[in-house]
Amino acid sequence: MRDRIGSHDLLLVTLDTLRYDVAAACLAHGRTPQLARVLPGGVWERRHTPASFTYAAHHAFFAGFLPTPVTPGPHERLFAARFAGSESSGPGTWVFDAADLPSGLAAAGYHTVCLGGVGFFNPGAPLGRVLPGLFAEAHWEPAFGVTAPACLDAQTDRLTEIINRLPAERPLFTFVNVAALHQPNRHYLPGAETDSLASHAAALEYVDRTLGRLFTLVTSRGRPCQVIICSDHGTLYGEDGHTGHRVAHEHVWTVPYADFVLPAHPTPAHPAPPQPASAESAQPAPTQPAKDQP
Ligand SMILES: [Zn+2]
Repeated sequence: MRDRIGSHDLLLVTLDTLRYDVAAACLAHGRTPQLARVLPGGVWERRHTPASFTYAAHHAFFAGFLPTPVTPGPHERLFAARFAGSESSGPGTWVFDAADLPSGLAAAGYHTVCLGGVGFFNPGAPLGRVLPGLFAEAHWEPAFGVTAPACLDAQTDRLTEIINRLPAERPLFTFVNVAALHQPNRHYLPGAETDSLASHAAALEYVDRTLGRLFTLVTSRGRPCQVIICSDHGTLYGEDGHTGHRVAHEHVWTVPYADFVLPAHPTPAHPAPPQPASAESAQPAPTQPAKDQP
């Protein structure tokens, strides 16, 4: 990834709570065509996440510890916060002199944007401001959250607004935490009264239908986009008596992962509209004060 910093935009998507087995089965049965189109080799990579729930997993991700391949390592990391003695940084690793990826990318000239989904990105409580606080610009609202059936559409709409006001020459790092898979997810399965593996899969189908628009958007800025897409942990629907996550279980630790580069769109799909001097104050204000306006 080192040779892409500066020339490529970056998109990190966490499909919060997505189980590997469900992701792989949906892909194999043709239920996630957008993902099939972009995943290297048309498959998810099976990996182990560093943590069993959102808050811990994202701290690890932002420090450079993405889910690890399940085969014996060491495995070279894409990026890493510099620290002495790292054995998984290699020639292709982008090493930054900061404690987290958003800060490292900001120092490299990137505008950094967080579009939060699950509760750990809800700034209504101090705990929900820790991860978003790493970014120059952070957004969260109930329409992005776990009870909103069109959560990824709402996040993509917001990113469209952000991109339309960001100078094209400024590289962009976008982080999106997608809440659809997280409980409750039964609203994706008509008639379902409880969450289940079937409603989990239906939620993934919704996400897949929307991802195409997100991918088109992030490649509309005249540069290629390095994409990293993965789950932060799985979850349980009664296996071995467990419901939920934050427990040590194979279906919690094992997550789908992929990274790939999307080429720049030949023509911008979302050109910046003319901005009358006064008018477009309809822009929603960032949920948090921006540390670094574009
Ligand atoms: Zn999570």
